[in-house]
This record gives sequence, structure tokens and C-alpha cells, in this order.
Amino acid sequence: MHALVYTGTETLVYREEKNPILKNGESIIKVKASGICGSDMHAYHGKDERRIPPLILGHEVSGTVDEGKFKGKEVVLNPLITCGHCDYCSSNREHLCERRIILGISKPMEKQGSFAELVSIPDKNIYELPKGLDIKEAPIAEPTAVALHAVDLGESVLSKPINECKVLVIGGGAIGLLCGLIVSKIKKAEEIVIVDPNKKRLNVCSKYLKADPVHPNSPKIINNSFDIVFDTVGLEITRQDAIEAVKPGGTIIHIGLTQPSGQFDFRKATLQEITLIGTYCYTNKDFEKTLDILSNKKIGSLDWIEFRDLKNGADAFKEIHNGSCSAPKIILLPWKLNNNLTQPTFVIRIFL
Ligand SMILES: [Zn+2]
Ligand SMILES: [Zn+2]
Repeated sequence: MHALVYTGTETLVYREEKNPILKNGESIIKVKASGICGSDMHAYHGKDERRIPPLILGHEVSGTVDEGKFKGKEVVLNPLITCGHCDYCSSNREHLCERRIILGISKPMEKQGSFAELVSIPDKNIYELPKGLDIKEAPIAEPTAVALHAVDLGESVLSKPINECKVLVIGGGAIGLLCGLIVSKIKKAEEIVIVDPNKKRLNVCSKYLKADPVHPNSPKIINNSFDIVFDTVGLEITRQDAIEAVKPGGTIIHIGLTQPSGQFDFRKATLQEITLIGTYCYTNKDFEKTLDILSNKKIGSLDWIEFRDLKNGADAFKEIHNGSCSAPKIILLPWKLNNNLTQPTFVIRIFL
């Protein structure tokens, strides 16, 4: 099969790789679409010790079952593979399973990812593509589940209904935009500010999300004024922005994984009783809820997704890296799926 292989820091090569082997309890999926995630970018920068080259990255994926139990079915994958019998797995908190792995990872166990023509996955991670969700757009289920889990976790500790809250979303990437869309369209919050230094990306976000799109230095980000802050970036500086912006008694939801440590105003966190919640992935229930959200188009149009050929995936990574990319999400297509993108236009001329 062909695959986009991460071979070293900031290097991806589209090349021939061995097909995955069918194992007991698993299926082989013919990948139809696979999204580039922030964590893939983190690996690309050589900063993820769980993703070591050479490795096929990618975990946001839809496709058809090529071999296995559900052969021929159109599916979307939950890429978080868990043991199924530890305390966490048996109490609906599978995402905290000590033996969890995700597609496109080297440690604690290697599992090749979905930037390829084929990928293997346990049968229990396979969901039938719901009606109303385009197979090309379906990889968005994974980051949407991340955002839904984060929003629900935040909502569970708020002291007033989330629709009455002033919300700050830091980061206009897919997770930021999706948190904003869930808070706005599903939770019905009306006062939302979304912040990103990339103007192009903010413009795209503001087309789809009813929010105030601002630059990080904007005077609209008033200290001590937000009931809930989503830090979808996870830099030292964004955490500092979050703690400054949050109201006394408010909540910070920390989702981004960019920088593991740094200065943080724990004094304010203590004196003002700030709730700080770290959030990772989603439970199986969150993933199922997400498929319902997407199939019923509850977060509106997904036209903000951009599609590229998998073989040109290295360019997409480069554009995300250098900030020239305005799309909050790029999805890579390994097969000829998208009429506009990969299929030649045939002009038929009739000579009389
Ligand atoms: Zn992801
Ligand atoms: Zn487990």
C-alpha cells in the first residue's frame, strides 16, 4: 500500500509500505479519509515521545471495511484502543485506561496510523457511518468527540447554566472551533470570544461560529471576566492568558498539549477558587453521541474542512506548520474520492 510516513523531524515521505496484517478480532479498513490532528503536528515537530519515526501518523479516519467482520460496510473509527477490562474500561471511562493506545503511535505499543491506503483496527472500535454524515467529512468525528467531552466536563462543574456563561475559546484550530460550535449551537451560549493569532483562520471560524473573533492582544479579552475558558492550545502563554481571563469561581478547561509545563498563576487559582480541568480524548459514549450530533448536522455545515490528496500530505503539514493554512482542519484522501480535487475533467467535443 501507499502511505505517508513520518521519517524524521519535519519530514514526511509518501512511499510504498507493507500492508497491515489481519489479526484475530481486528479488521482491515480501506481508508477513505484521514484528518491531520494537532497531535500529528506535535509529532511532526519531533516533540512527541510516543510517536517515533519511522511511523505512519493519523488517527481521525473513515473508510470501508476491506477484510474482517463488517466487510464492505462504510465506517468511522474510534481510534482510541483500550484494554476493555480494567477499572476505567469497566466504568465507562475507557479513555483513562492504563493500556490505552491510539492509531499512529509507537509507544507503549506500535500501532500504525491512517495516513495510508489501509489501516487495521480492533472490531470494537468500528462504528457504522451514520446517515447524513459524508464519508469524506467523517474523520471530524474524532476531534468533535474530544471537544464534546471537554465541553461536557466543563459544564458539569459550572455554577450556572452554560448558556448564561461568558465563554473564551483560545485557539481557532479544529478543537477550538468545535468547542465553540458545540457551546453555541448545542448548548446555546451567546457570549463567546474566540482568539487566535492567525487572522486567516479567525476569518474562517467567524464564518461558521457566532462569536467575537479576536487577536490575543485584543482589549476585548478582559481580565477576570469569563465564566469558562477553553485552552485548546496548551502553551505556557495561553495558560497564562486563560488564568488572567477567567472570572473568580470560574473554570479553565485545558485541552491543548503543546507545552508540558511553565509558569502559571496558582495564587489566583487558589485565592479565586478557579477550577482547572485537564481533559483528554473521550469516552465511547461521547463518541456515540458525537456520531448522532454529526448525522443530525447539529453543529452546522462542515465546509470549513479542506481536502487534499494523501500523496501531497507533506505540503499540508508544511502549510499548517508555517501558518499559511487558513483551514481549521485538513483531511487527506488516499483514493480518488473528491470530484473537484482528484478526478480529471473530461471535455467531450463533438465534431460535425
Ligand atoms: Zn485527533
Ligand atoms: Zn482498560
